[in-house]
Amino acid sequence: MFKVPREEFIPRDYRDYAYYGSTYLEEIPLPIPGQNATISCPHAYPLFYEPLEIKEGDKFLEVGMGSGYGAVLAREVVGSKGRVVAVEIDEVTYQFGRGNLERLGYSDIVTVLGDGSYGYEKKSPYDKIGITAVCRDFPNDLLSQLTVEGKMIAPIGSSQSQRLVLLKKIRRNELKTEYLGSVLFVPLKGDYSPAY
Ligand code: SAH
Repeated sequence: MFKVPREEFIPRDYRDYAYYGSTYLEEIPLPIPGQNATISCPHAYPLFYEPLEIKEGDKFLEVGMGSGYGAVLAREVVGSKGRVVAVEIDEVTYQFGRGNLERLGYSDIVTVLGDGSYGYEKKSPYDKIGITAVCRDFPNDLLSQLTVEGKMIAPIGSSQSQRLVLLKKIRRNELKTEYLGSVLFVPLKGDYSPAY
């Protein structure tokens, strides 16, 4: 996080708030181009990546690329031996995120425009998967694109009430889940969007 310039992922009008919101709101998500898209607040990234234990050499899938900031942080951790694939459903947001990655030289991050609840089978399986929007449940296709011993993290629930859940695939048909706490993320679009 010290290495990646967060302000580069934030539209010009909000750049003053890249690191601090205001006296009362130290960290806030900020709007980015597209419908209902935000760059998450800074602490959201370690909140996801530490329980996932993302490490050098991992193949990581991000559902909800947004600004591209989360994909770049992950790329810094997995290194050139790893691989980052980021999927975004909103075309305007996708172009914004892609532009940021290109401008900053992160050319080996694979970006995909589409519904990330179906993952991206072509580059699967993934060691780690992060979903950065609230979904009703872990999508089936993502479970099958996760390696055995792989981990996936997502906010699960409704748009008003959600819990961050860490899932570990113990064996092909054995999953273990752990609740990590309350969070507030924008809703996932598509078939796994929350019911309300
Ligand atoms: N990780 C982002 C922040 C994500 S905000 C960052 O670091 O900036 C959530 C994003 O998920 C939004 O951009 C939204 O358009 C996207 N999204 C919502 N539903 C999606 C889906 N089904 N597939 C892929 N992306 C989705």
